[in-house]
Amino acid sequence: MFLSSPMPEKTTDRLQREFGQVRYSLSSDLDGKGAFGPSYLAATDTHLAVGDEAGNIRAIAMKELSSVRIDELFASARLVAVYKGPKEEQLISYTKARVPEFALFCRVLNDIIKGKEVFIPDETPKAAFCPSCQTPLRERGAHCPRCVPRLKIITRLLSLLRPHRNKVLLLIFLSALNALTRMGPPWVTKHIVDDVIRATSLVHLPFWAGLMVGLTVLALFCDISMGFLNAWLGGILVRDLRSKLHSHLQELRLEYFDKRDSGELVARIMHDVAFLHHFLIDGLPFLLLNSAMFIGIAFVLLSLDPWLTLIVLLPVPFLLFGGRWFYEHVHPARFRYHAAFSRLFTVLSESIRGVKAVKVCSREQRRKKVFDDCCHSAFEIGVNLEQTFMGFTRVTMFIMSLGVTACWYVGASRVVGGAGLTLGGLMAFVGYIWLFYGPLQWFTVILNWGTQAMAGAERVFSLLDEKPEIYDEEDAIDPGTIKGAITFKDVHFSYERGKEVIKGANFNVKAGEMVGLVGKSGAGKSTLINLVCRFYDPDSGSVSIDGKELPKLKLSPFRRQIGVVLQEPVLFQGTILDNIRFARPEATFAEVVRAARAAHAHEFIVAKEDGYDTLIGERGKGLSGGEKQRISIARAILHDPPILILDEATSSVDVETEKKLQEATARLVKDRTVIAIAHRLSTLRNASRLIVMEEGEVAEIGTHEELMEKDGVYAKLVKIQRENNKLRGEREVWSE
Ligand code: ADP
Repeated sequence: MFLSSPMPEKTTDRLQREFGQVRYSLSSDLDGKGAFGPSYLAATDTHLAVGDEAGNIRAIAMKELSSVRIDELFASARLVAVYKGPKEEQLISYTKARVPEFALFCRVLNDIIKGKEVFIPDETPKAAFCPSCQTPLRERGAHCPRCVPRLKIITRLLSLLRPHRNKVLLLIFLSALNALTRMGPPWVTKHIVDDVIRATSLVHLPFWAGLMVGLTVLALFCDISMGFLNAWLGGILVRDLRSKLHSHLQELRLEYFDKRDSGELVARIMHDVAFLHHFLIDGLPFLLLNSAMFIGIAFVLLSLDPWLTLIVLLPVPFLLFGGRWFYEHVHPARFRYHAAFSRLFTVLSESIRGVKAVKVCSREQRRKKVFDDCCHSAFEIGVNLEQTFMGFTRVTMFIMSLGVTACWYVGASRVVGGAGLTLGGLMAFVGYIWLFYGPLQWFTVILNWGTQAMAGAERVFSLLDEKPEIYDEEDAIDPGTIKGAITFKDVHFSYERGKEVIKGANFNVKAGEMVGLVGKSGAGKSTLINLVCRFYDPDSGSVSIDGKELPKLKLSPFRRQIGVVLQEPVLFQGTILDNIRFARPEATFAEVVRAARAAHAHEFIVAKEDGYDTLIGERGKGLSGGEKQRISIARAILHDPPILILDEATSSVDVETEKKLQEATARLVKDRTVIAIAHRLSTLRNASRLIVMEEGEVAEIGTHEELMEKDGVYAKLVKIQRENNKLRGEREVWSE
């Protein structure tokens, strides 16, 4: 079970003897002095204890404590005991790699101290270190760069080519033919030297010369056809892989995106796939060709002169072991290079998206420095890799030349000494050696590409293996047309293990009712909405629609019945018409216009030169804030969902626009269940009840008047808002 780390026997025995059964235990990676080494935290029913390797224990009675807390430090964190008196004390420290486990332990301890029921999620956290070589992982549960299952990745890569197997077979056939034609010329040389030059007879010269030309033409044909086929296969693979990755991304849970930068994902889809392409289009076919040649030439050499072949084979172990050494050293560096590149993408996309903020704050120089630093670190790792690679290939070449010299030396003595080797045979031999060493040298080059491709493939596959969001339970039913009653029953939820964001929410929203969600920023309002949309599942408790728990409903047909109008409307590149039709692409033009009129958007749309066909840029570029809002309201009206989530804009718009927005919103919210994150009194007044959130808990529920009378959290919020508005000299939206 999670939270039961093994402890030294001495420690467990002593704890059990003196304080009773150990309920929970967790090991830290830092010892009592803050150095790397184990220490242990354990909880019995009555005591909390910290132990070390030697069996020493420091125990504190739970009843003396008012709580425990985590202090996050620079490279580590610590758990602190807060006593009932004014006293605090560090219990244990740990590196950042152990943060989630300790966060959960902290929550469990607080539950025990407060006498609450302890809740521990079933799922064990993924490993932060490689289980076999202990290398720290890029992210928990990721593959270790040193221990990537190469064979598995290659098999998987090849399986991507399965749909095109006929073309792959043709490619293999052409590779074999190409290998044969390339092996012909040294053999022809042997005959020209022995049968023409040394025999001083030109009779057979035209035949041998003709054969040489024929072989060269055939090799050319094979080369060109292979090139064409490679380009097609490589291209189709990249196309399929990118579109597979993109559609997979659309299906992933939001949690996945919470933890990753968009740049990293873009890098995976563009950059890593490009590496794969490079390997598959240039590397793999040559590997096929050269492997075939390698085997063929080894046979020919043996048949020409077995002793000389042994000399030729001398450098082979150096070349192969050298290649292995190279792979093991370069492979982890490849991962660092990819990580540096992903960071570059992230910083670049932030710089472009955030250009306004950068300019407003005059942070251009700082931004330049951030980007330049990233560029520089990618440059350093890249140069280091290239230099290692260059050095390796040059040494390889040198070893090969030694082999060739040895072959001339031994071969010449065997020709002169009459050991059965002719001059033509020796010349053919030397010709073959280069063809023989060629693949060997090539294998090292392929290794270099292979390392890049393998790293890319691993990242691509790990994205493809990410569990998609469609996690309907087997007996999930189609919800049909929902009425829209929403029930939260004792819902607990945390984005990150141990940091609870919703702490036991209980409330009902009746079908057709409009409720407002109120609370300070960070109180958990958006999180409640995320749970209604089932972007996340609660850790415990349930969210039900019309009395049915969400996991029992098929996700897709349920989500289609939720409309969302966000503070920052999400518009896509395309025409205004496409954007309004986003949730109902089959809607007629007349329906779109009706929705736009209801949203007070029609007037400004037709005032534009291209009307509904006006192209809007990325994220609605070219439209004002109020216009974007109205388009998104029109979209929701057209969609006509039984449940509507409304996240009102906080930014002030001019009075005229605000009035129009209010009217549009009032039309939108009629006759459906609405949960509004409300900022304006007009919305709050329209709402039949207000749910007031405070630090993840539902603090109050009631109408505006009831809550003002109660003079609790809500009344305080209204007071603060009034004072702020007075200070800003603005219209008082909370107290009309
Ligand atoms: P509100 O909408 O009331 O401003 P939220 O529901 O957005 O509050 O946030 C509640 C808490 O959850 C905050 O402490 C916030 O930092 C945290 N939080 C919100 N989204 C995430 C996320 N994706 N990952 C981790 N923590 C989050």
